[in-house]
Amino acid sequence: MSTRTVPTPQELRSAPKVLLHDHLDGGLRPGTVVELADETGYSGLPTTDVDELGRWFRDAADSGSLEKYLETFAHTCGVMQTEEALSRVAAECVEDLADDGVVYAEVRYAPELFVERGLSLEAVVEAVQDGFERGRKAAAERGKQIRVGQLLCAMRQHARALEIADLTVRYRDRGVVGFDIAGPEAGYPPTRNLDAFEFLREQNAHFTIHAGEAFGLASIWEAIQHCGAERLGHGVRIVDDITTADDGSVSLGRLAAYVRDRRIPLEVCPSSNVQTGAASSIAEHPIGLLAKLRFRVTVNTDNRLMSGCSVSSEFAALVDAFGFDWSDVQWCTINAMKSAFVSFDERLDIINNVIKPWYAERV
Ligand SMILES: [Zn+2]
Repeated sequence: MSTRTVPTPQELRSAPKVLLHDHLDGGLRPGTVVELADETGYSGLPTTDVDELGRWFRDAADSGSLEKYLETFAHTCGVMQTEEALSRVAAECVEDLADDGVVYAEVRYAPELFVERGLSLEAVVEAVQDGFERGRKAAAERGKQIRVGQLLCAMRQHARALEIADLTVRYRDRGVVGFDIAGPEAGYPPTRNLDAFEFLREQNAHFTIHAGEAFGLASIWEAIQHCGAERLGHGVRIVDDITTADDGSVSLGRLAAYVRDRRIPLEVCPSSNVQTGAASSIAEHPIGLLAKLRFRVTVNTDNRLMSGCSVSSEFAALVDAFGFDWSDVQWCTINAMKSAFVSFDERLDIINNVIKPWYAERV
């Protein structure tokens, strides 16, 4: 095969892939939402018909209404308030990712959203870790090897970032690989949580920040230069600092040049951006330009349930929209693995022993 071979959706599923930006509470199976609602006595679901509910999640996320979009998470978080529920969702997450060919994933969630029924933050982290372990073993029994780490998010609008940063450090040798800050960008600049980022840097801990999704360059600049983010969650508004002239030549502003020069990873989530209106279509998504300019682009799902997507379906969309070939898929995959928060040795092991041998036959 040559690089000219167009990857098919089926081949993309079997290709080893790496996922850095995926929300645990955005990736439940619709059937699990229905069963957990029943088991935990959650009565708020719009429907208990599994197919209908799956469609409802996608339509609500598509509707353009923030209220509806947030309602989807009220339901998923609503059914994840017990250790059993958290562990089940985490186990199924790992199995679903492994079945999609993901070999390494960092899955994030905000522990503070799962304490409504009295769980401690520690119990939440441990229940998720228990699920990840069970999911990994179940996948291995089917011949699928996957490694998964936790990213703990703090919500911008709450004031618990330092507490969650401390939790991240306490659990870093027990499954947690990093920290993130999520929630509404408007009105909540990342600098609001500076104490948490300073603490993490003092502790030599890793973190990424959701920045530059709907909100512009100021949020990206703060995340990198004030907070010290190693990666950017989305980060696609960096295109606002890139100018294309009439003759097609491209010039980068200072911030865009800095992000590219320093190889700061962009956790790009194409379908999610289209749903929230950050991009009008996949074909018009900035990822095409950013990949062409060789920013450190990685391809991610964000919320698999709400977007009805997987890592392989995101790549399939990029194959259709931008003519991605196997070398592009491998490039994004190695970009992601290089940008992971696990140790250098572990990253090299997966790149050299899992990713490169598979793609070597195709590029
Ligand atoms: Zn996200």
